[in-house]
Amino acid sequence: MNFRPMPLPHFLEQEGLRATIETGLRKVAREFGRSEHGFAAAAFASFEDWTVRPSRATTRFGSVSTRTRIFRLTVLDCSEQARRDTILHEVAHIVVFELVSKSERHGPRWQLLARAFGARPSRAGLDLRFRTASAQLRSKREVTVARCTRCGFEVKRLRRSTRDWRRYLHRSCGGRFEPQAPEPQSPPRSADG
Ligand SMILES: [Zn+2]
Ligand SMILES: [Zn+2]
Repeated sequence: MNFRPMPLPHFLEQEGLRATIETGLRKVAREFGRSEHGFAAAAFASFEDWTVRPSRATTRFGSVSTRTRIFRLTVLDCSEQARRDTILHEVAHIVVFELVSKSERHGPRWQLLARAFGARPSRAGLDLRFRTASAQLRSKREVTVARCTRCGFEVKRLRRSTRDWRRYLHRSCGGRFEPQAPEPQSPPRSADG
């Protein structure tokens, strides 16, 4: 589900969520001491400053950076419900940040908005499609950091290893490891896995 970076209002239009969000904003406007129209209009005006960008993070569906006003949304496979919940969840963060409080996080005012939008709680770890997609992506990102000189077994990691693999033996065959990554940048650390 890849997409190009785009302004948030355009994105919400494209996802067919504009009406859902506008209805939710009107529903709770009074609780924030605003008129229905004023609250919705102010929220949509603030969305103009936000950009939605595709994310390939493997542990979460989405995130917002209030500093850069970027909303990152996963492009990994996931259930449609999870995608929708994530968009509504993050938009609730954006509305609260722009119009209500800079430090609300998942506090009661955020919850009020998220509920008004119909965002159900969703966790990336519980979505089977997302879990499958992120596992595939992680394994593709892994690099071989060491290889057993006796049996050829490869040790794979998501990041370059700073361990001095020459000091370790392959437990299952007793062979010595040869580092496959660039030379360690820092002195070898203790063997903690
Ligand atoms: Zn959140
Ligand atoms: Zn071996």
